[in-house]
Amino acid sequence: MITSYHTHTTFSDGDNTVSEMVKAAVNARIGEIGISDHYVMPPDGRNVSWSMRLDGLPDYFNAIKEAQDAFTGKINVRYGLEADFFSETADQLRETLSQYAFDYVIGSIHFINGFPIDEHKKNWDNLTQPERNDVIRDYWNRMLQLAKSGLFDIVGHMDLYKKFGAQPTIDVSEDIIAALDAIAEAGIAVELNTSGWYKPIREAYPSAMIVKGCIKRGIPIIITADTHRIADISRDFKRGRALLESMGYTKQIIFKNRKMSMVEHQED
Ligand SMILES: [Zn+2]
Ligand SMILES: [Zn+2]
Repeated sequence: MITSYHTHTTFSDGDNTVSEMVKAAVNARIGEIGISDHYVMPPDGRNVSWSMRLDGLPDYFNAIKEAQDAFTGKINVRYGLEADFFSETADQLRETLSQYAFDYVIGSIHFINGFPIDEHKKNWDNLTQPERNDVIRDYWNRMLQLAKSGLFDIVGHMDLYKKFGAQPTIDVSEDIIAALDAIAEAGIAVELNTSGWYKPIREAYPSAMIVKGCIKRGIPIIITADTHRIADISRDFKRGRALLESMGYTKQIIFKNRKMSMVEHQED
């Protein structure tokens, strides 16, 4: 069964409605689709343009429920979310998440101390290399906190900071190892996010080396497209699957009521 769990609709920064996304998934022979719009609660209280409204969750749930009802028997529809992790607002997020029956929550980091890591290349160009190193090291430390927070089921695009080509000139391998160990300890999954192949870095998130580190630790991996339009709903899934299989990984995971189940992947 093909799943597509990282999808954005008009509730956040996607081009299509929930219903259009689910219909496209049926047409693409996807067995299970999850909607995972952005939910961003920054510590400085600023309004993030690409996040859904913070009071938008009731409408969001209704829209997913409607699509679920409309396509019953044709596809499984799951209640997901891509929520940003900030240690400063983690308790507030925990309280919000506890009020809704999500099937899974993707935890992502798009900001480091207010610095938007994936918005524009020029933001990175304006940093000195030591400043870039600081952002990247801080990113991995926050990734460790994300894993320990217990808030999430899946880690989103794990090395997102590389999007425009930024790389550290200091050794952050110990920080990465600590983050991966914490993820393994937390029992949560990591995505192989195919959208990176279409960004300037031209590499899936995370890098092959990190994927190997996940497999070594027994961390479950889920292939996602991070789609913002129906056309990309399963973009490069075969390529992602081939990459994982080349590393000896053949499992597939699905989520319901925030519980992960693992199945052997089968070609359909
Ligand atoms: Zn994201
Ligand atoms: Zn996303």
